[in-house]
Amino acid sequence: MKTAGKIRKNTDGTLMVPNSPIIPFIEGDGIGPDIWRATQKVLDHAVMLTFGGDRKIEWLELMVGEKGFHETGEWLSEEALDAIKTHVVAIKGPLTTPVGKGIRSLNVSIRQVLDLYACIRPVKYIETVPSPMKHPESIDMVIFRENTEDVYAGIEWPAKSEEARRVIEFLVESMGASISPDAGIGIKPISEKNTKRLVAAAITHAIEHDLPSVTLMHKGNIMKFTEGAFARWGYETAHEQFGDQTITEAEVWESHGGKPPAGKVVIKDRIADMLFQQVLLRPAEFHVIATPNLNGDYLSDALAAQVGGLGMAPGANIGDRCAVFEATHGTAPKYAGLDKVNPSSLILSGAMMLDYLGWKAAAAAVRAAIEKTIRSGTVTYDLARQIAGATELKCSEFAQKIVDNMG
Ligand code: NAP
Repeated sequence: MKTAGKIRKNTDGTLMVPNSPIIPFIEGDGIGPDIWRATQKVLDHAVMLTFGGDRKIEWLELMVGEKGFHETGEWLSEEALDAIKTHVVAIKGPLTTPVGKGIRSLNVSIRQVLDLYACIRPVKYIETVPSPMKHPESIDMVIFRENTEDVYAGIEWPAKSEEARRVIEFLVESMGASISPDAGIGIKPISEKNTKRLVAAAITHAIEHDLPSVTLMHKGNIMKFTEGAFARWGYETAHEQFGDQTITEAEVWESHGGKPPAGKVVIKDRIADMLFQQVLLRPAEFHVIATPNLNGDYLSDALAAQVGGLGMAPGANIGDRCAVFEATHGTAPKYAGLDKVNPSSLILSGAMMLDYLGWKAAAAAVRAAIEKTIRSGTVTYDLARQIAGATELKCSEFAQKIVDNMG
């Protein structure tokens, strides 16, 4: 008889995972309940099939978002945040954030409060998924998006507020800036410490997975002291912490005739707008991309479109203490409760979570079954509208097909 237990983190960062780990989940708003149900079913089946009943996830629901507000009066309670901290690994559906008014993003709050500084989003083409690209098979990248600062830090004030007036007054009178008095104000902090730990995580990933390059994506030609500094600190991180394992693109050309020496990760940088066209035209040149928060948000949705759309885009928010896995997309409110959308994004986030636990065979079983299900032309609406002759399934039916194909 298995007893449920907590995952623990060792001082060296490795995990101790009991056979029956308690893993908190947040169902999410909008399409959250539909895709969560599908995900739970597929993950439980994969674990059961792979480990023959020796391992099982004990799910612990956290009341957050609209469900939390209705049941407890709180959108995001201390108790829920503590549960993620003490159980080390969690998974969540999307949470609603009103545009231009109301509560701050709960998603951003979770990342900031738990210091989940690396948002990791793999973008890999799955065979037979419809793509607007001519050669989607050459897309295999991982985005490391800084997750705690940049304009996402939430330091902003509405136009004509007392706070905005005082900041503008200071900037105009003491710093010589020129700002319209009716401007809304947002602050963009990018720090050396947070940049360096994010870039270190990206380079470590490249080394551990034997990937040829890490690209620092930034808009440093315009925002010199934030995005420009991000690139500079990124190169410093490579030099200071990974000097023997990395080489800059400039050094490759200056000393190696443009051919990277074996075993070295090439560190390069690209201006953000230019990178958007290069990932379309020459995706095979990019492997790991490290970038500040807002660039990473834009780039991950754009890259998701190249491999089948947001329904296929998984992600993870990882810090030194804990990790929260979640899909790239939001709550897609127009599909809420219709049992319609593609749950692959959250299921694949769950596969990333199984990998993180070290349950790699179960993660591989999930990915193989999704691939098989899509290859057989049984898909949700988003893929069905792009595949001639496909059979359109509901979200729950698609999950059942994945389960059947795993067996
Ligand atoms: P969204 O929820 O990501 O949805 C935009 C569109 O993407 C959908 O209308 C749909 O396209 C497609 N899509 C998203 N998820 C899909 C899925 N699982 N399967 C198939 N297609 C999918 O973006 P939004 O409408 O801008 O945002 C809605 C809310 O979500 C906002 O409150 C926002 O703040 C929040 N949000 C939360 C998170 C998070 O929890 N981490 C992230 C982003 C946004 P079609 O209409 O073409 O079918």
